[in-house]
Amino acid sequence: MSELLHGIFIDVEVADSVAGDAELAKKLAEVCPVDIFAAGDAGVRIIRENLDECVLCNLCVDAAKAAGAEGGVRIVKLYES
Ligand code: SF4
Repeated sequence: MSELLHGIFIDVEVADSVAGDAELAKKLAEVCPVDIFAAGDAGVRIIRENLDECVLCNLCVDAAKAAGAEGGVRIVKLYES
């Protein structure tokens, strides 16, 4: 197989209310150590090719919580641990 598949192990779910929040988007882009979030004027964008770099640090989940959007960002493991 020559094609690279991204997001095989990890998926990040961002609630609609969070996805359109430009301020929180900036925060998410800032806290994630592996650049899974990109902030734009329209809110947050997930950089899919970085998904499997996620180190499960929960900084994004905590940032959403601190911004009053608890549960707005979820890290989903796509494998059994
Ligand atoms: S858990 Fe950590 S590494 Fe994974 S997406 Fe959130 S901030 Fe990034």
